[in-house]
Amino acid sequence: MKYSELAEKYQELESTQKTLEKTDILAELFKEGGEDLEYLVLLARGRIYPEWNEVEIGLSSSMMQDIIAEATGYTEKEVEELWRDEGDLGLAAEELAKNKKQQKLMSTTLTVEKVIQRLRKVAEMSKEGSSQSVSQDKKKKEIADLISSSEPLEARYITRTVLSHLRIGIGEGTIRDALAEAFFEGENKDKIQRAYDFTNDFTEVAQACTKGIEEVEELKLELFRPVNSMLAKKVDTIEEGFDSVGKPAVIDYKYDGMRAQIHIKDREVKIFTRRLEDVTEQFPDVVEKVEEHIDAENCILDTEIVGFNPEDGSMIEFQKLSKRIKRKYDIQKQVNEIPVEVRPFDLIYLNEPILEEEYSERLEKLDRIVDEEERELRLVDREVTDEEEKVQEMQQKSLSEGHEGIMMKKLDAEYKPGNRVGYMVKLKPVMETLDLAIVAAKWSEGERAGWLGRLFLGCYNKETGEYEQVGKMATGLTEEQLEEITERLKPLIEKEDGRKVWVQPDIIVEVEYEEIQQSPTYNSGYALRFPRLKSFRDDKEEADSKEKIESLYEDQK
Ligand code: AMP
Repeated sequence: MKYSELAEKYQELESTQKTLEKTDILAELFKEGGEDLEYLVLLARGRIYPEWNEVEIGLSSSMMQDIIAEATGYTEKEVEELWRDEGDLGLAAEELAKNKKQQKLMSTTLTVEKVIQRLRKVAEMSKEGSSQSVSQDKKKKEIADLISSSEPLEARYITRTVLSHLRIGIGEGTIRDALAEAFFEGENKDKIQRAYDFTNDFTEVAQACTKGIEEVEELKLELFRPVNSMLAKKVDTIEEGFDSVGKPAVIDYKYDGMRAQIHIKDREVKIFTRRLEDVTEQFPDVVEKVEEHIDAENCILDTEIVGFNPEDGSMIEFQKLSKRIKRKYDIQKQVNEIPVEVRPFDLIYLNEPILEEEYSERLEKLDRIVDEEERELRLVDREVTDEEEKVQEMQQKSLSEGHEGIMMKKLDAEYKPGNRVGYMVKLKPVMETLDLAIVAAKWSEGERAGWLGRLFLGCYNKETGEYEQVGKMATGLTEEQLEEITERLKPLIEKEDGRKVWVQPDIIVEVEYEEIQQSPTYNSGYALRFPRLKSFRDDKEEADSKEKIESLYEDQK
């Protein structure tokens, strides 16, 4: 398929807000996709690889600005001005491509395959051993080449794809529904969702869809390919918890650590975060403990990794532990400064996928393969009970030991990746925090000039795939935090206007607040009262959804 055809579809998708219309347009595209289907399901969400694959193009918007200048013959300043006027670098690229100052001698027609292969080539360059600056230059040249051989509308969407922000409002659910419509007359959505949950890979799911629903059902969980973690719903009382998970239930301590999915394949260990990021290198101590104390050739453990203070053994909060997630150097120092313990609570693969077995059976298997070591690798503290008093006792004990509360889990439930189905609920005593993306910020004035002090927070609208603002956070940031935030936001800046900057929503922060109010000030329709930064959630990729904010708002009443 020609890339120009896809670009037209993008434009159609962009011009409607209605999810059903978007689904129809996509279904049509997928039906016509043929051999390109595997690329189209990715490109429809602005991706070049499936979700589980972490390789990224890695070019910032300011680099993209240089690239557009080079490809079109305009100066960087001209590009920047137009970017500011248009509010989107993709639109700026399109505009400039219409009046290119330098024409390519030979222009070839771009195909969907060519574009994605080219972008993948660029993404792979970051992995090659060459030095950072050499590979950045090579990358820039490749993309400039691509933009200079593209038509204006193509330039708009290539630019946005490079920046991983397509702005056409397509979420995972829309891809799923469009596949169902394209291949099964709208049926089998749940089976497609399930296949996607297991594989995290729409290319595989789409290919299976072309062959029939049996093939879709055949798709399985695989080792070394992380699967979305099962998420917990929140409940406010023990009674509500039992209503959700039934009696008797498994009651666990809830630790303030980092969710880690640990895969063992032929005794080799890999560790993934909840964002599906591979952090094996950052946690050699965990690898060692797992090798020593897990007795299985092939398995997947669901665990919480918790940091503790080496001096007095007390638990440390997630915020401190999270430093280890990002650190790529001085790893041994981190291991000594922030030692961790691994607390497994579920097993979803043992020589074969066992997600569909009941939790009680999975736990039996888990207990068999874990050889508990003092501290470094222990099963979570857990009880099975149907008595409210017993649960209350655990709740109190957990809190007094400095943990977050308890989890209640359904004994006969399967493992549902990614779903907040209520098979597992959390009971925390405090107002639930929100994980929000920083979507914009403002340069401070006076003493704090040079820092991005005011942070605009956004929740994720699953229907449109866009972020919507829910408030701004100004006070309560320490200088250290301001400095860290400023450094991390700078490369993400997409647009500036006076003191305000808009950024790619890549940084997720955990925020405390007094209450949620309805508000016309922000485009989500809600505003948080007195939001405060609690921690950086570098283990999360996506902010909490607007639905969650709506339901918390309803709960407050
Ligand atoms: P939340 O992040 O508030 O939605 O709470 C769910 C998270 O609690 C999970 O993703 C885990 O990272 C963490 N957690 C801590 N202890 C447990 C446990 N015993 N079982 C399951 N999850 C746990």
